[in-house]
Amino acid sequence: MTSDALKSLVRTVPDFPEPGIQFRDITTLIGDGEGLAASVHQLAEIARNAGATKIAGMEARGFIFGAAAAVQLGIGFVPVRKPGKLPVKTIGIDYALEYGTDRLEMDPEGVSADDNVVIVDDLIATGGTALATVELLRMAGARVKSALFVVDLPDLGGAEKLRAADVDVRALMQFDGD
Ligand code: AMP
Repeated sequence: MTSDALKSLVRTVPDFPEPGIQFRDITTLIGDGEGLAASVHQLAEIARNAGATKIAGMEARGFIFGAAAAVQLGIGFVPVRKPGKLPVKTIGIDYALEYGTDRLEMDPEGVSADDNVVIVDDLIATGGTALATVELLRMAGARVKSALFVVDLPDLGGAEKLRAADVDVRALMQFDGD
């Protein structure tokens, strides 16, 4: 499936969740069998070439693509979760949003110093979520050199932020604007 065909499966919903935001909705992409398979296959191949030993995905849409790519490669999946969800002692990181802060948590035993973890999420916008995930995984001792997204919004500068943190960034498609 071509990049343009894949891109045509992403639905754009104007003014969600607030006025002025163009929400790039992957629900329509994952609802299409061919689109879901092609996007997972492409992400898995990039992760394989990056030498991934584990995939980490962020709650919630990162779970869909990340876990499926991990299955395809036969490697483990590490869920990076919203606060208070994991039943064990976690490590966490607070990060800034446009308004206020948010927090991500993980099980520190989910990765080891031998792991080369590749991050997978549906979309990178400002990069705040992905950068916090990189820091969290590095706190847990893993190596993180690569982050993969279905959608990049390059005008919001997230990919540049990750590259400045020594993380290679790849996306299956880009949308101009925010
Ligand atoms: P950020 O931390 O700014 O890179 O935002 C990334 C997270 O917010 C991703 O996990 C997306 O699911 C979601 N997100 C941010 N902006 C959009 C958008 N315009 N359309 C769809 N999802 C978005």
